[in-house]
Amino acid sequence: MSKRDYYEVLGVSKGASESEIKKAYRKMAIKYHPDKNPDNKEAEEKFKEAAEAYEVLSDNQKRQQYDQFGHAGMGGGFGGGGFGGGGMNMEDIFSQFGDIFGGGFGGGRQRRGPRRRKGSNLRVKIKLTLEDIVNGVEKKIKVNKLVAAEGVEFTTCTACGGTGQITRVTNTILGAMQTASTCPTCQGTGQIVSKRPDGVDANGLERKEVVIPIEIPPGVEEGMQLNVQGKGNDAPGGGIPGDLIVVIEEVEHEKLRRNGNDIHYDLHLNFIDAALGTELEVPLVQGKAKIKVTPGTQSGKILRLRGKGIPELNGYGKGDQLINIQIWTPQNLTKDEKKALEKLRESDNFKPNLNKAKSFFDRVKEHFS
Ligand SMILES: [Zn+2]
Repeated sequence: MSKRDYYEVLGVSKGASESEIKKAYRKMAIKYHPDKNPDNKEAEEKFKEAAEAYEVLSDNQKRQQYDQFGHAGMGGGFGGGGFGGGGMNMEDIFSQFGDIFGGGFGGGRQRRGPRRRKGSNLRVKIKLTLEDIVNGVEKKIKVNKLVAAEGVEFTTCTACGGTGQITRVTNTILGAMQTASTCPTCQGTGQIVSKRPDGVDANGLERKEVVIPIEIPPGVEEGMQLNVQGKGNDAPGGGIPGDLIVVIEEVEHEKLRRNGNDIHYDLHLNFIDAALGTELEVPLVQGKAKIKVTPGTQSGKILRLRGKGIPELNGYGKGDQLINIQIWTPQNLTKDEKKALEKLRESDNFKPNLNKAKSFFDRVKEHFS
């Protein structure tokens, strides 16, 4: 079958202007649009033929080429499967509509079936002590959230017939176009609330205070967010509930500070204990530890209690507790105390011996190597 002349297809003269061509194509598109002619092969062919003609005649370069060479000129020029061959398929045509008029006119593909809506997420902050963080903890969180109410009845949405989609015929420059969009009446769920008790919103949800137990693993830290799936607001129409997002806040410890997974503790020693050595207790996150201070301990010495820090969140390994020794110098002395110390002032043993005492930088190097 020989190809019809493009001008003939659109019913315009060889000298037709751009707007005349557009108008003619618009008429054709309305007349032969598949939505108006379901299961009509002939109409479909005409629709395709018009689209192909418009594609060429609306493009100056292609039109020139066509005027000069006719259909023969179209063959190779537009790539395999283009206009020279079997013509355009429906998808090409619809996607061309999209290209020309920008979005919305894709036609063709429509998602079928109602959409399951998702409930919104809830965010709560939770304060944790160092003990909670070291051990992990189960917290019961009171949340004010939207829950599916009892006694709500649903009926199929009449606006969309339960499909959740509204198919609308829009008049465009190309004629009547079918577009599918989410049903505004039911928001795509395909159902609407037909009966609801007092205090229940139009989605069949009501606000309720709910206590949600949350398992916090050991090793979490300030600012971390735990996502508890499905514990947020319920979704309208039995959709998927949102998530509960738990934001971790650390409560400051009275004596201990956290640094990564290590715990830092400043131990203030009087200089006599530091000189003579002693045994004492230091606080841990849990309980206490006995430590030995060796005679001649310098200020700034760091003792490390292995594994007394915070567990890694992934469960492998633990931080340490570091004890930072600070020598405390007395500020108020009695006469007798002063006298006793005066006696020691001139002793060679009380003069700093920097060969023996490691410098601050050495200690840092040692500590981190
Ligand atoms: Zn609907």
